[in-house]
Amino acid sequence: MKLIMFGTREDEKEAALNWAEKNNVEVTFNPDPLTLESVHLLEGYDGLSTSQTAPFEDEIYERIAAQGIKQVAQRSAGFDMFDLEKATAHNLIISNVPSYSPNAIAEYAVTAAMNIIRNTEKIQNKVKQHDFTWNKSIISKEMRSMTVAIIGTGRIGTIAGQIFNGFGAEVIGYDLYPNEKAEAFLAYTDSLEEAIEKADLISIHMPLTKGNTYMFDKSLFAKMKDGVFIVNTARGKILNTKDLLDALNSGKVAAAALDTYENEAPYFPKDFSDKTVEDEVLLELIQREDVLVSQHIAFYTETAVMNLVEGGLDSAKQVIETGNCDNRVN
Ligand code: NAD
Repeated sequence: MKLIMFGTREDEKEAALNWAEKNNVEVTFNPDPLTLESVHLLEGYDGLSTSQTAPFEDEIYERIAAQGIKQVAQRSAGFDMFDLEKATAHNLIISNVPSYSPNAIAEYAVTAAMNIIRNTEKIQNKVKQHDFTWNKSIISKEMRSMTVAIIGTGRIGTIAGQIFNGFGAEVIGYDLYPNEKAEAFLAYTDSLEEAIEKADLISIHMPLTKGNTYMFDKSLFAKMKDGVFIVNTARGKILNTKDLLDALNSGKVAAAALDTYENEAPYFPKDFSDKTVEDEVLLELIQREDVLVSQHIAFYTETAVMNLVEGGLDSAKQVIETGNCDNRVN
């Protein structure tokens, strides 16, 4: 069996080579995403794995199928970069890796929350200027004095809630489908608004759907406590970034940590150190002391990368051998 891995990063290769040896499969690495320009490279392969961040081009499904390939095994939990109907129409099985390490994202969400609560960036900027004073601009709240709202109490939100609870915070949660196990350390509210109104810190952990695009907008910010903290490690488009900037400017939101950004696809995870970032909103977020921007990196731990690589390659192999796979999403 011969598989090709698109969008391969250096840090994925060791896990892929170990998997290839164990499974007696030949795996070829390609560093670039799969596009119409590179689809001809599929010739001679039985299957593929991708790590797409930008949407697939419309005509690509037909071109993949024309190469005799039956599947696309994405190495992430998110699969919003694929048009599932188009894939099905061309008999392509799309798979994801739904749970590769929820702890990785949950731990990052809590880390980011601690950083914005403790004013880490402001403190570091002062220290770098040799201003070693203590003053009100860098005094912190303590987590144990805060009410933390977890929005979306699935795999990641539940673990984040448990960790916040370990810090002594009062944890509340809102989910369309409450999870009984989470009730051991969080109290569910009946509505999103109720959770938002009570929270000192809001951590977002729901998937992006048509129903929650820009759910965090001007009208929802208006219902929050003054000086609330917001952490978004879910998807950028759940939050209207311009409305967030207004809420930061008015003091409604004290600080925000954004691991995802609504227009991140051209930038994350690419090196722009010798290129120009044109996105004015992203530039403003980055230069602010009250916003912690990261490049969609919450998942990025050694354990998660190994599980993603193995999960993607397992699915590709499973489709080739059986005609279906456990992690099929279409
Ligand atoms: P999950 O499916 O286990 O949990 C999501 C929860 O959100 C579910 O309980 C669901 O009922 C709830 N939900 C859905 N729509 C909702 C709504 N409108 N209001 C309230 N609750 C709603 O998913 P998960 O594994 O916990 O992942 C959550 C999200 O985290 C993913 O969808 C993805 O967007 C994001 N994520 C980010 C990274 C990163 O590196 N930043 C990595 C992986 C996942």
